[in-house]
Amino acid sequence: MAEDVAAMPERAFAQYLARLKREEKDIAELDHVSGQVCRNILKALCEANPEFHHQARICLWEYGRLQDALSHDSPEDALRRPNVFQVKTGTKRKADESVPELRTCKKCGWGFLDEFNKSGEACCSHPGSLVVDPTSSTWVGWEEDDHGPKDSEENRKLWPKGFRWDCCDDAGDEREGCQNEWHEPVPTKKQRVSEAMATWRQRKSILKFRKTDKSAGPVDLAAE
Ligand SMILES: [Zn+2]
Ligand SMILES: [Zn+2]
Repeated sequence: MAEDVAAMPERAFAQYLARLKREEKDIAELDHVSGQVCRNILKALCEANPEFHHQARICLWEYGRLQDALSHDSPEDALRRPNVFQVKTGTKRKADESVPELRTCKKCGWGFLDEFNKSGEACCSHPGSLVVDPTSSTWVGWEEDDHGPKDSEENRKLWPKGFRWDCCDDAGDEREGCQNEWHEPVPTKKQRVSEAMATWRQRKSILKFRKTDKSAGPVDLAAE
């Protein structure tokens, strides 16, 4: 999934960086539309895609946990903290700003808040891979000549029950993982752009060094 920036030829790198910057700009546009437009977009995405709907529910649940945690504060603390969800007329902007940012985890794919990523047990994922379970009822009558190979990415999505996790032997549709760890946030586009630029600068300085070093052979950027 992650591109190896350091190994990219110059042209491919330039295209990659341009794509990242375009995506960063697209996502940042959401900061400039109203909350209602964001809600409409979110609802349309949830209607169209069951996986998206599932993820959105988890994110909502995570914010719900935060609200619970805040409401168990001492009364003085509760008064000092703005309510996460209820937006009163005239205080909308203030209430919106108080909502902490949600991140998505690289390992389990769930949305999470930093508030609940402190125990080192927040993330529950399978470190292994999904392998075909030949004993699963999913495959009764499945002829590979007619239906195609059982072992395919499409089948993993459509028929998870036909697979098992090779890390713990759990059924493939068992979303709760067998390994507890920290959630690891997916880097934002902004972070990826600055990481890519840093790698690029490093490569440029190696190139400069090679050019001044007569003993070195011709420079092959793609091989760096
Ligand atoms: Zn597992
Ligand atoms: Zn996680």
